[in-house]
Amino acid sequence: MVLEILKFPDPRLRKKGVAVKEVTPELKKLATDMIETMYAENGIGLAAPQVGQSIRLLVIDTRPHDEEGNIVTTGLTELEQQVQQPIVIFNPEIVVAREKTTYEEGCLSVPGYFETVERNKYIEAKGLDIDGKEFWIKTDGLLAICVQHEMDHLEGKLFIDRLSFVKSNKIKNKIQKHGYPTPEEMEESREEARARRNEAKEAEARASSGD
Ligand code: ZN
Repeated sequence: MVLEILKFPDPRLRKKGVAVKEVTPELKKLATDMIETMYAENGIGLAAPQVGQSIRLLVIDTRPHDEEGNIVTTGLTELEQQVQQPIVIFNPEIVVAREKTTYEEGCLSVPGYFETVERNKYIEAKGLDIDGKEFWIKTDGLLAICVQHEMDHLEGKLFIDRLSFVKSNKIKNKIQKHGYPTPEEMEESREEARARRNEAKEAEARASSGD
């Protein structure tokens, strides 16, 4: 079942998620509904507070697709490829976080906006899977960024809160005054963000090859 995604400034997005005691059948159903919702919205991650459930649960699938919509591994790091996706994590905890990186992030709860955010490049996280069993993720790449972005949601925090004060307020005021852009405008800004990300990636590759 596709669920409704709350959008900023919905106050429910500001509530902290509570740890689950046990992965009940109801929570399993919520997790599968969240995965369905994430795919329906072309997202790469979704946290329970985004669907109005103040619990510590996230779902993630950062695998890219080709033009026909097939899942591909191009662009995934070696560590990312070793992680089985989609991922369901209850009570996630980041245990190790190293180095810094930046990425132009977006969010299904702030549609149409993309801004560069600094995160840790490498993380190790643990939590419970959909069967309630403890598991670990060791990853870098987009998957590491996504885990950190989604975990922010469990603290009632959005990526636009991580921008400079001026930038953050500008976006929030604009949304509160004028609402969200049209689907066409959103698609345009998504394309622009994609192009800027590719540029940033190429620049990074040039820098590391010493050209
Ligand atoms: Zn988000």
